[in-house]
Amino acid sequence: MKHEADVLVIGSGIAGLSFALKVAEWGTVNIVTKKEGWESSTNYAQGGIASVLSREDSFEQHLRDTIAGGDGLCHPEVVEQVVREAPERITELVNWGVEFDRDAEDRLALGREGGHSRNRIVHVKDLTGREVERVLLALVVAHPQIQLYTDHTAIDLITEHHLDLGTGTTHCYGAYILENSTGQVHRFRARLTMLATGGAGQVYLHTTNPEIATGDGVAMAYRAGATLGNLEFMQFHPTTLYHPMAASFLITEALRGEGAVLRNKEGAEFITHPQRSLAPRDIVARAIDGEMKRTGVAHLFLDATGISREKLEQRFPHVYQQCARFGIDISHDPIPVVPAAHYMCGGVITDLQGRTSLPGLYACGEVAHTGLHGANRLASNSLLEALVLAHNASLSAREDMVSLTVIDDGIPVWDDSGTCAGEEWILIQHNLHELQTVMWDYVGIVRSRLRLERAQRRINMLGMEIRDYYRKTKVSTQLLELRNLAAIAHLIIKAAMQRTESRGLHYRHDYPERNDRQWQHDTVLQRDSDSSQL
Ligand SMILES: Cc1cc2nc3c(=O)[nH]c(=O)nc-3n(C[C@H](O)[C@H](O)[C@H](O)COP(=O)(O)OP(=O)(O)OC[C@H]3O[C@@H](n4cnc5c(N)ncnc54)[C@H](O)[C@@H]3O)c2cc1C
Repeated sequence: MKHEADVLVIGSGIAGLSFALKVAEWGTVNIVTKKEGWESSTNYAQGGIASVLSREDSFEQHLRDTIAGGDGLCHPEVVEQVVREAPERITELVNWGVEFDRDAEDRLALGREGGHSRNRIVHVKDLTGREVERVLLALVVAHPQIQLYTDHTAIDLITEHHLDLGTGTTHCYGAYILENSTGQVHRFRARLTMLATGGAGQVYLHTTNPEIATGDGVAMAYRAGATLGNLEFMQFHPTTLYHPMAASFLITEALRGEGAVLRNKEGAEFITHPQRSLAPRDIVARAIDGEMKRTGVAHLFLDATGISREKLEQRFPHVYQQCARFGIDISHDPIPVVPAAHYMCGGVITDLQGRTSLPGLYACGEVAHTGLHGANRLASNSLLEALVLAHNASLSAREDMVSLTVIDDGIPVWDDSGTCAGEEWILIQHNLHELQTVMWDYVGIVRSRLRLERAQRRINMLGMEIRDYYRKTKVSTQLLELRNLAAIAHLIIKAAMQRTESRGLHYRHDYPERNDRQWQHDTVLQRDSDSSQL
């Protein structure tokens, strides 16, 4: 069977699905996704989507909040466009069928989250992402121009490197895709490829991200020669449920927006920032980390007991029920919380139209680095960014299609001669755990040269083992993910070593100050001699 379409979309979260729906108005689309269609970070988003929708708010205010959060690294022209386009994209979601919560006057109900100076978060209780994903997926599945391939994992992008055209240029012609159920590797050809593979939270031991978030898109793009930016900026969400069975379940920031307060083991508030528990995430996460290290406790508390039970049940049913499952009545008991890796601010560098540095390759959503978030993302700006950039990219893709071709032959079939079926599952599991632990311990909320060098040595060794195993073994999703996580770990450490200052989410205790003269720009990574190791 020949897998060919005008556009190949890798990933079925908000970025991939909304882009596909728009492109399908004028072209054919193949979407591949690693697991079931709905499995994505999008599906777990709780808080909502930021947009200026009330008279008490203004675009200027949203712009100022975003730029203040980004600590000197936001690209103002990107912030401007994303913020101004937000209401239109929200209206579009409503027209597609997303049923956001409404107030007594039937206006969209607006919540508040950390770093936002006004109420501007549209939401569907605390299950916003699930509703958005449900609506988009249903539209995609019903669309005659779109073919959705679930349980298909992208291995690598196809470029001149595979074609041996000798043109000297690099261009993306699609991707090698593993059909998980059969182990077969297919060539998916396309005139244009959209990377919408989401984030990389799984590189850390504790993360709010689902298992699919293994940084595949960033690793594939880097191997193919695309330029990356700002990978040192990993956002740690301050409040995930601390419980052995809870797998870093996120306690939405919107709960603090409604009045919940962080307390230490003595029951005292400990955050000194003027916005206290609603300060930007990096400040809150660092304050928690510092308090935990200072007092030697395994967790702190989020106290929502000042909010009525009725309000908690009605506005936060998911958090309420999940905590109840673990024996915590949040209207009565403070919630034990710890920080966890949550959002990758950097990624594959794109322009405002979603174009990467590699012709034929677009990126959008969490995998992309547009310049919106700078050194720290403001809550609920990421679903918004994905929507706006997917929209822009669909427009530019239509123009670019004219000059892009599908390579009809010459793409070699996947060559796995000399490899054998992987029998050593325990090796993958062990390497994964080691990698995640090293990243958590040495490249987490607080960093230093000593810790980064230590991490680099260990990750390099792990990387060598993984590459060796990869070369000898038939590909599987788990092995591909491990290979990509090793690449992401390597790249995060490299970026973190380059940034010799503390800014936004990147805090180094050997360089505790911002250095505006030296460092007011993005950290750019490009494939170089060591990329053959990734
Ligand atoms: C618990 C949680 C709560 C959040 N809450 C909010 C919030 O309230 N507001 C907000 O703005 N943001 C929130 N975020 C962040 C936001 O959800 C994500 O940034 C956003 O959903 C990313 O969308 P995406 O389409 O880029 O990626 P995703 O939604 O993660 O989708 C990625 C897709 O790519 C697929 N994929 C990955 N690798 C491959 C591969 N190799 N081959 C094939 N398919 C692949 C995955 O299977 C998945 O379908 C939250 C995140 C989490 C984890």
